Amino acid sequence: MADILYTYNGKVYVNLTNRCDCNCKFCIRSHHDTVGDAVTLWHRKDPTLEEVKAAMDAYDFSEKKELVYCGYGEPTCALENLMGSARYGKERYGLQIRVNTNGLGNLYHKKDIVPILAEVVDSVSISLNAPTKETYMEVTRPQFDDAFEAMLAFTKACGRVIPEVKMTVVDVLPKEEIEAGRKLAESLGVELRVRSYV
Ligand code: SF4
Repeated sequence: MADILYTYNGKVYVNLTNRCDCNCKFCIRSHHDTVGDAVTLWHRKDPTLEEVKAAMDAYDFSEKKELVYCGYGEPTCALENLMGSARYGKERYGLQIRVNTNGLGNLYHKKDIVPILAEVVDSVSISLNAPTKETYMEVTRPQFDDAFEAMLAFTKACGRVIPEVKMTVVDVLPKEEIEAGRKLAESLGVELRVRSYV
Protein backbone atom coordinates (compact mmCIF):
# COMPACT_ATOMS: atom_id res chain seq x y z
CA MET A 1 0.00 0.00 0.00
CA ALA A 2 1.27 3.45 -0.84
CA ASP A 3 2.12 5.96 1.83
CA ILE A 4 -0.81 8.16 2.80
CA LEU A 5 1.26 10.50 4.99
CA TYR A 6 4.86 11.36 4.23
CA THR A 7 7.42 13.83 5.47
CA TYR A 8 9.49 16.05 3.22
CA ASN A 9 11.74 18.92 4.35
CA GLY A 10 10.25 18.76 7.84
CA LYS A 11 6.64 19.09 6.65
CA VAL A 12 3.96 16.44 6.73
CA TYR A 13 1.97 15.81 3.56
CA VAL A 14 -1.17 13.86 2.78
CA ASN A 15 -1.16 11.77 -0.39
CA LEU A 16 -4.92 11.51 -0.70
CA THR A 17 -5.49 10.42 -4.28
CA ASN A 18 -3.75 9.63 -7.56
CA ARG A 19 -6.60 11.19 -9.55
CA CYS A 20 -5.82 14.41 -11.40
CA ASP A 21 -7.51 16.40 -14.13
CA CYS A 22 -4.21 17.76 -15.47
CA ASN A 23 -1.20 16.15 -17.04
CA CYS A 24 1.51 18.70 -16.31
CA LYS A 25 4.68 18.36 -18.33
CA PHE A 26 6.81 18.87 -15.23
CA CYS A 27 4.75 16.66 -12.86
CA ILE A 28 7.12 14.91 -10.48
CA ARG A 29 5.12 11.70 -10.69
CA SER A 30 6.24 11.22 -14.30
CA HIS A 31 9.84 11.10 -13.09
CA HIS A 32 9.87 9.57 -9.59
CA ASP A 33 7.72 7.09 -7.65
CA THR A 34 8.24 8.82 -4.36
CA VAL A 35 9.04 12.03 -2.46
CA GLY A 36 10.62 12.51 0.96
CA ASP A 37 10.39 9.51 3.27
CA ALA A 38 7.57 7.76 1.36
CA VAL A 39 8.27 4.33 -0.13
CA THR A 40 5.85 4.93 -2.99
CA LEU A 41 3.13 7.50 -3.57
CA TRP A 42 1.26 5.36 -6.10
CA HIS A 43 -1.89 3.94 -4.54
CA ARG A 44 -3.29 0.63 -5.78
CA LYS A 45 -6.60 2.11 -4.76
CA ASP A 46 -7.12 5.57 -3.26
CA PRO A 47 -7.38 5.40 0.55
CA THR A 48 -10.73 5.61 2.30
CA LEU A 49 -11.40 8.26 4.91
CA GLU A 50 -10.95 5.66 7.65
CA GLU A 51 -7.55 4.71 6.22
CA VAL A 52 -6.45 8.34 6.11
CA LYS A 53 -7.54 8.84 9.72
CA ALA A 54 -5.71 5.65 10.75
CA ALA A 55 -2.54 6.90 9.04
CA MET A 56 -2.91 10.16 10.97
CA ASP A 57 -3.35 8.31 14.26
CA ALA A 58 -0.13 6.39 13.53
CA TYR A 59 1.86 9.57 12.84
CA ASP A 60 3.69 11.54 15.53
CA PHE A 61 2.42 15.12 15.15
CA SER A 62 4.08 16.38 18.33
CA GLU A 63 6.55 18.56 16.35
CA LYS A 64 4.12 19.47 13.55
CA LYS A 65 1.76 22.40 13.28
CA GLU A 66 0.53 22.03 9.71
CA LEU A 67 -0.88 19.29 7.49
CA VAL A 68 -0.37 19.82 3.76
CA TYR A 69 -2.55 18.11 1.15
CA CYS A 70 -0.41 17.49 -1.89
CA GLY A 71 0.92 14.08 -3.03
CA TYR A 72 0.69 12.28 -6.38
CA GLY A 73 -2.67 13.66 -7.48
CA GLU A 74 -5.02 16.60 -7.08
CA PRO A 75 -6.40 16.63 -3.51
CA THR A 76 -9.68 18.33 -4.42
CA CYS A 77 -10.51 15.33 -6.67
CA ALA A 78 -11.06 13.51 -3.35
CA LEU A 79 -13.01 16.37 -1.79
CA GLU A 80 -15.01 14.35 0.74
CA ASN A 81 -11.95 12.62 2.15
CA LEU A 82 -10.04 15.89 2.08
CA MET A 83 -12.69 17.61 4.16
CA GLY A 84 -13.25 14.68 6.52
CA SER A 85 -9.57 14.13 7.24
CA ALA A 86 -8.75 17.85 7.45
CA ARG A 87 -11.49 18.29 10.04
CA TYR A 88 -10.12 15.32 11.94
CA GLY A 89 -6.55 16.69 11.81
CA LYS A 90 -7.70 20.05 13.04
CA GLU A 91 -9.96 18.84 15.83
CA ARG A 92 -7.85 15.95 17.10
CA TYR A 93 -4.30 17.20 16.49
CA GLY A 94 -4.77 20.99 16.34
CA LEU A 95 -3.21 21.19 12.88
CA GLN A 96 -3.41 24.07 10.43
CA ILE A 97 -4.61 22.86 7.04
CA ARG A 98 -2.96 23.74 3.74
CA VAL A 99 -4.10 22.51 0.35
CA ASN A 100 -1.80 22.59 -2.67
CA THR A 101 -4.11 22.53 -5.67
CA ASN A 102 -4.29 23.08 -9.41
CA GLY A 103 -7.31 25.33 -8.76
CA LEU A 104 -9.66 23.37 -11.03
CA GLY A 105 -11.88 21.95 -8.28
CA ASN A 106 -14.93 23.95 -9.35
CA LEU A 107 -14.70 22.61 -12.89
CA TYR A 108 -14.06 19.06 -11.72
CA HIS A 109 -17.04 19.04 -9.33
CA LYS A 110 -19.24 21.26 -11.50
CA LYS A 111 -20.03 23.41 -8.46
CA ASP A 112 -18.42 26.05 -6.26
CA ILE A 113 -16.29 24.15 -3.75
CA VAL A 114 -14.64 27.25 -2.25
CA PRO A 115 -17.22 27.71 0.56
CA ILE A 116 -16.76 24.01 1.42
CA LEU A 117 -12.98 24.35 1.60
CA ALA A 118 -13.30 27.53 3.65
CA GLU A 119 -15.00 25.56 6.44
CA VAL A 120 -11.68 23.98 7.43
CA VAL A 121 -8.80 25.09 5.19
CA ASP A 122 -6.43 27.80 6.49
CA SER A 123 -4.17 28.13 3.53
CA VAL A 124 -4.36 27.39 -0.21
CA SER A 125 -1.53 27.29 -2.67
CA ILE A 126 -2.66 27.35 -6.30
CA SER A 127 -0.41 26.37 -9.20
CA LEU A 128 -0.41 29.21 -11.69
CA ASN A 129 2.39 27.55 -13.66
CA ALA A 130 2.35 30.15 -16.44
CA PRO A 131 0.98 33.68 -16.74
CA THR A 132 -0.80 33.31 -20.09
CA LYS A 133 -3.54 30.94 -21.17
CA GLU A 134 -1.51 29.69 -24.12
CA THR A 135 1.52 28.66 -22.06
CA TYR A 136 -0.63 27.42 -19.18
CA MET A 137 -2.55 25.05 -21.47
CA GLU A 138 0.66 23.85 -23.06
CA VAL A 139 2.40 23.16 -19.75
CA THR A 140 -0.53 21.96 -17.61
CA ARG A 141 -2.50 20.00 -20.27
CA PRO A 142 -5.78 20.13 -18.32
CA GLN A 143 -8.96 18.22 -19.24
CA PHE A 144 -10.94 21.46 -19.58
CA ASP A 145 -10.70 24.12 -22.28
CA ASP A 146 -11.59 26.89 -19.84
CA ALA A 147 -9.13 25.72 -17.16
CA PHE A 148 -7.03 28.89 -17.11
CA GLU A 149 -10.00 31.20 -16.57
CA ALA A 150 -11.52 28.84 -14.00
CA MET A 151 -8.25 28.62 -12.06
CA LEU A 152 -8.05 32.43 -11.90
CA ALA A 153 -11.68 32.72 -10.75
CA PHE A 154 -11.08 30.00 -8.14
CA THR A 155 -8.06 31.93 -6.82
CA LYS A 156 -10.03 35.14 -6.50
CA ALA A 157 -12.88 33.37 -4.72
CA CYS A 158 -10.46 31.66 -2.30
CA GLY A 159 -8.84 35.02 -1.55
CA ARG A 160 -12.17 36.31 -0.26
CA VAL A 161 -12.81 33.56 2.29
CA ILE A 162 -9.61 31.64 3.07
CA PRO A 163 -7.05 33.31 5.37
CA GLU A 164 -3.91 32.65 3.29
CA VAL A 165 -3.97 32.22 -0.47
CA LYS A 166 -0.94 32.10 -2.76
CA MET A 167 -0.28 31.29 -6.36
CA THR A 168 2.90 29.50 -7.29
CA VAL A 169 5.26 29.25 -10.23
CA VAL A 170 8.54 27.39 -10.43
CA ASP A 171 11.87 29.17 -10.62
CA VAL A 172 12.75 27.71 -14.04
CA LEU A 173 10.34 30.15 -15.74
CA PRO A 174 11.97 33.11 -17.51
CA LYS A 175 12.21 36.20 -15.32
CA GLU A 176 9.65 38.13 -17.42
CA GLU A 177 7.10 35.34 -17.01
CA ILE A 178 7.64 35.26 -13.27
CA GLU A 179 7.06 39.01 -13.15
CA ALA A 180 3.93 38.69 -15.31
CA GLY A 181 2.74 35.95 -12.93
CA ARG A 182 3.34 38.22 -9.96
CA LYS A 183 1.25 40.99 -11.52
CA LEU A 184 -1.51 38.54 -12.39
CA ALA A 185 -1.59 37.12 -8.85
CA GLU A 186 -1.66 40.63 -7.37
CA SER A 187 -4.52 41.59 -9.69
CA LEU A 188 -6.49 38.74 -8.08
CA GLY A 189 -5.60 40.00 -4.60
CA VAL A 190 -3.09 37.26 -3.72
CA GLU A 191 0.66 36.83 -3.49
CA LEU A 192 2.90 34.90 -5.87
CA ARG A 193 5.37 32.40 -4.44
CA VAL A 194 8.26 31.31 -6.62
CA ARG A 195 9.17 27.78 -5.60
CA SER A 196 12.24 25.85 -6.59
CA TYR A 197 11.79 23.07 -9.09
CA VAL A 198 12.98 19.78 -7.59
S1 SF4 B 1 -1.83 19.13 -11.19
FE1 SF4 B 1 -0.22 18.33 -9.85
S2 SF4 B 1 -0.57 16.12 -9.73
FE2 SF4 B 1 -1.75 16.89 -11.47
S3 SF4 B 1 -0.40 16.57 -13.23
FE3 SF4 B 1 -0.08 18.68 -12.50
S4 SF4 B 1 1.65 18.60 -11.06
FE4 SF4 B 1 0.88 16.47 -11.40
